[in-house]
Amino acid sequence: MYTQLGLYIDGKWNHGNGGGGEDVLNPATQKPLAHLPHATASDLDAALAAAEKGFKMWKAKSAYDRGRIIKKAADLLRERADQVAAVMTQEQGKTLVEAKGEAVTSADIVEWFAEEGRRAYGRIIPSRNPTVRQMVVTEPVGVVAAFTPWNFPVLTPARKIAASLAAGCSIIIKASEETPGGCVELVKCFEDAGVPPGVINLVFGVPSKVSEHLIASPIVRKISFTGSVPVGKHLAELAARGMKRATMELGGHSPVVVFGDADPEKTADTISAFKYRNAGQVCISPTRFYVQEGIYDRFLKRFTDNAKAIKLGDGMEKDTTMGPLANPRRLDAMDSFVADAKSRGGKVVTGGNRSGNQGYFFEPTVITDVPDDSKIMTEEPFGPVAPIVTFKTFDEVVQRANSLEFGLAAYTFTSSPKTATAIGDALQSGMVGVNSVAISTPETPFGGIKDSGYGHEGGIEGLEVYMNKKFIAQA
Ligand code: NAD
Repeated sequence: MYTQLGLYIDGKWNHGNGGGGEDVLNPATQKPLAHLPHATASDLDAALAAAEKGFKMWKAKSAYDRGRIIKKAADLLRERADQVAAVMTQEQGKTLVEAKGEAVTSADIVEWFAEEGRRAYGRIIPSRNPTVRQMVVTEPVGVVAAFTPWNFPVLTPARKIAASLAAGCSIIIKASEETPGGCVELVKCFEDAGVPPGVINLVFGVPSKVSEHLIASPIVRKISFTGSVPVGKHLAELAARGMKRATMELGGHSPVVVFGDADPEKTADTISAFKYRNAGQVCISPTRFYVQEGIYDRFLKRFTDNAKAIKLGDGMEKDTTMGPLANPRRLDAMDSFVADAKSRGGKVVTGGNRSGNQGYFFEPTVITDVPDDSKIMTEEPFGPVAPIVTFKTFDEVVQRANSLEFGLAAYTFTSSPKTATAIGDALQSGMVGVNSVAISTPETPFGGIKDSGYGHEGGIEGLEVYMNKKFIAQA
């Protein structure tokens, strides 16, 4: 069973005002799951009006009352995790185990923001004039327009909705048209938890038309986007025209630096499991592997053995450990990464090809001997292709790891505390995992630097991006 799709505007599910639509496909079978209606301009205007009304009412509630409702949504999401996971697996392809993990983690995120909204503290600043009280108060920024991609159909919308609502904002969210069901299920949890009409509105449509319409509206005061760098830059420009605040969580190309004093097998086990999660379609996926010469062979062997052991298949099947890619664009991209690598002397150690003719399956792939200027080493792979190369010295690997315009995530493995501190400081990245891949949790700031964007999605920083600070001098 998939789910009933629709637009959610002013507390009502509907099929839009005649804006057409598209079929949602199962990437494992390429068969249609359901028809998704698109919003017309008048539907978007209705969502804007509802969000404006919803904001006034939601802002007027106490942070405690808001928190109670948001917490209930988290409880419902946890209760419904199996059903939500099945929807995600069918529309996106990830395995049921991963999809359930995403649903449960999303519930944790929603719960964390439900609690953190109560701690949106201001401050009193000692005054140079004893008759004046200097106060900094926090206020919700206003109506939010959020845009989310297809790789995490529940988690990414959960971050944006929960943080907006915890801050006292209302939101219009345009989730991915390719994986709409996860967000529909999520919004139903908030609806059933008692979020009043207008506070959350969910729309779908032609992405460029929807974003242009919403961002240009004076009602919208904040933009939050997760997706590719080119689209992020475009939306940032649109936001700048209205001087609107923006959070941009864009792509990455995460280096993994494995020093010669790390345990090669243990490191390969940790990082290969992380690499092929969601078939590599993760913005913080490890994507460029630099391994110091002394342990390269052992690391490569173990990593390759692990890649070969992956069971590729429909995510709904129990024994599947990696599902299909989410759409045919990723299949084409993988083919082009592999062809480019081969043409530059790269060796495919395992995988390298599409698997079967039905469904968007691509083999878990390992490539060696690729030059640093090849496509796979410079463009975000967003798929199950792992280039593994060697390095000699600390300075050399730092230079190579920092050579791209991306700066989202980086990982490093070493048994030396001195090296750990030095490399943690040297890597140009919003997040660094040192002997760890646990860089995305509800309570910690998630975000990039350089072309990977700005603003944060988790932790107290993730709440602050939805709040204005107002200074009041009171005599
Ligand atoms: P894309 O750039 O066309 O789309 C990325 C996402 O942005 C999609 O969800 C899409 O619906 C949305 N989008 C596109 N144009 C938009 C617009 N004008 N306004 C609002 N939303 C818009 O690319 P794609 O083929 O879907 O994905 C390819 C690349 O995108 C990947 O290689 C990866 O680099 C990047 N990506 C990053 C993330 C992430 O989590 N940071 C997620 C998905 C995709």
